[in-house]
Amino acid sequence: MKRAFVIGHPITHSRSPLIHNYWLKLYGIKGSYEAIDVPSDDIEAFFERMRAGEFVGGNVTIPNKELAYSLCDERDPLAETICAVNTLECSGGLVFGSNTDYLGFLGNLDQNAPGWDKGLKEVIVLGAGGASRAVLVALKSRNIPSIRLLNRTIEKAEDVAMDLEGPIRAGRLAEFAENAPNAGLVVNCTSIGMHGSSFEDIDLGRLPKTALVTDIVYTPLVTPLLAEAQALGLRTVDGLGMLLHQAVPGFKAWFGKTPEVTAELRQLVEASL
Ligand code: NAP
Repeated sequence: MKRAFVIGHPITHSRSPLIHNYWLKLYGIKGSYEAIDVPSDDIEAFFERMRAGEFVGGNVTIPNKELAYSLCDERDPLAETICAVNTLECSGGLVFGSNTDYLGFLGNLDQNAPGWDKGLKEVIVLGAGGASRAVLVALKSRNIPSIRLLNRTIEKAEDVAMDLEGPIRAGRLAEFAENAPNAGLVVNCTSIGMHGSSFEDIDLGRLPKTALVTDIVYTPLVTPLLAEAQALGLRTVDGLGMLLHQAVPGFKAWFGKTPEVTAELRQLVEASL
């Protein structure tokens, strides 16, 4: 039987087993997907288990995405740009790493705000951590002409802008006000919003009325940022769809079937939040 996994530490919070086991059952595939607690110190030993053929592959989550990246035998070029992996495939004694967060971001917006990138001229991305790099790669792939990358620590935003090249200009969070009137999309990639925390300096009222606001944080599903955007009548997309869509390529690679992100799956995961 094909076995897949999600590794991280802690790991009990992960919704990935719910997603992949839903698909295994839906498509009648004989396989398993389990959450395995692997602290950073144990990850090298876990890679040896993968190379020995115990698993077909799996997902990697916090805090192991960067370390796993460094341990892979091969990686896809986009994972090399992002410098982190969230999906592993094991074959012939080798571990291949990729990053599907950027596909998750695009799949979520394509499904929930179709046409979101048509004619889009300027985007504001808040946050310059690992997830932000994946979102920036996604935005670049849709040829967005101008991206403002705003972060609490300006040096980190400058490093990311330099690494990824292209139309990305770094700034501080306080520069939101001056950039907002031209922005058609705002993406929150900081961890602000988790457990109800909120921004102090972000005034969404300065955005055009047609702007779309999306948050990659999905606990809670409606973050304070999304609640404010909704109160202003702006369009919003929450971050749960990104989690669901990033899972698609891994399932296909391990179990040979492209799964569908259905309303039923979303309800199942939403109910568990
Ligand atoms: P990370 O690498 O630790 O980056 C965290 C970012 O948040 C940095 O830009 C950091 O700014 C900023 N930040 C944290 N606390 C802040 C504060 N009090 N004020 C201002 N900025 C603050 O984390 P990550 O891996 O990128 O993940 C970010 C969030 O995205 C997490 O909540 C994660 O759960 C979520 N996520 C969701 C999905 C999904 O599928 N929906 C996928 C990946 C990640 P500094 O640089 O100044 O520290």
